[in-house]
Amino acid sequence: SESTAQLLGQITWSADGLVPAIVQDALSKEVLMLAYMNKESLQKSLESGQTWFWSRSRNELWNKGATSGHTQQIVSLHYDCDGDTLLVKVRQNGPACHTGAYSCFYREAEVNGQAATGPSQQAHEDRFGPLSRLEATIANRDAERPEGAYTTYLFEKGVDKILKKVGEETAEVIIAAKNRDRDELRCESADLIFHLLVLLREQGVPFDGVLEELEYRHRKPVKKD
Ligand code: AMP
Ligand code: ZN
Ligand code: ZN
Ligand code: ZN
Repeated sequence: SESTAQLLGQITWSADGLVPAIVQDALSKEVLMLAYMNKESLQKSLESGQTWFWSRSRNELWNKGATSGHTQQIVSLHYDCDGDTLLVKVRQNGPACHTGAYSCFYREAEVNGQAATGPSQQAHEDRFGPLSRLEATIANRDAERPEGAYTTYLFEKGVDKILKKVGEETAEVIIAAKNRDRDELRCESADLIFHLLVLLREQGVPFDGVLEELEYRHRKPVKKD
C-alpha cells in the first residue's frame, strides 16, 4: 500500500539492507528481544500484523513463532528520529526467547559489583499475581487429583457439575448485590471467580488470555450489547 511504501522510504537501511527491531511486550512493557528486519519482513509484518524478521544466522525470512507457536501479535510499530531503529510493541504468546525465557534479556551483568533486578522473566508471572497462582493451583489439582479436595471433586464430576456451580454462584452474586450485602457479595464473587477458573481449566482456556483480553480491550472501541 501507499503508507507501507512511504514507511519503507523513511527507514535508514544498513548496508546489508537491515534495520534492528526492538520488540517490547505492550502489556508489561518488558523488552523481549532484538531482531533484524529487511524490507520484505517489514512488509510482511505490516500486512499480517505478526512479526516477521530476517534471520542473519539462517539467512532466511523468519515468522516469529512459526515453529514454536510463540507468536507475536503487533500492537504498534514505531520508528525512531533518524529511522535506523524500529520499536515493535506486541502481544506476546508464550516466551519470546528460544531458550524458553519470557524475555531474551534474562542474563544480567554486575554494574559496580552489583546485579540490580534479578531475572526479568519474573515479570510475566508477576503480572496477574494472585489470580495466576489460583489458576496454577487449580491446574495442579486437575493434574494430581488429590483425594478429598473440592477441586478434585469438581473435575471428577465433570463439566455439567462445574457449569451448574457457575450458574449457582452467579445467582448468588446477583442476590447479594440486590440485597446490597457487601460482605456477601465479596464472598460470592470469590466463589464465582474460583468456579469460573475451574471451568476455564476444564475447557482449556488459559486465564492469562482472559486477563490480556481485558487489558487490550480498553485500547479498542468498546462494543456494547
Ligand atoms: P520460533 O520463531 O519461535 O518458532 O523459533 C524458530 C527459531 O528461531 C528458533 O529455533 C531459534 O533459532 C530462532 N529464535 C526464536 N526466537 C528467537 C529469539 N528471541 N532470538 C533469537 N532467535 C530466536
Ligand atoms: Zn536512531
Ligand atoms: Zn533469546
Ligand atoms: Zn456461593
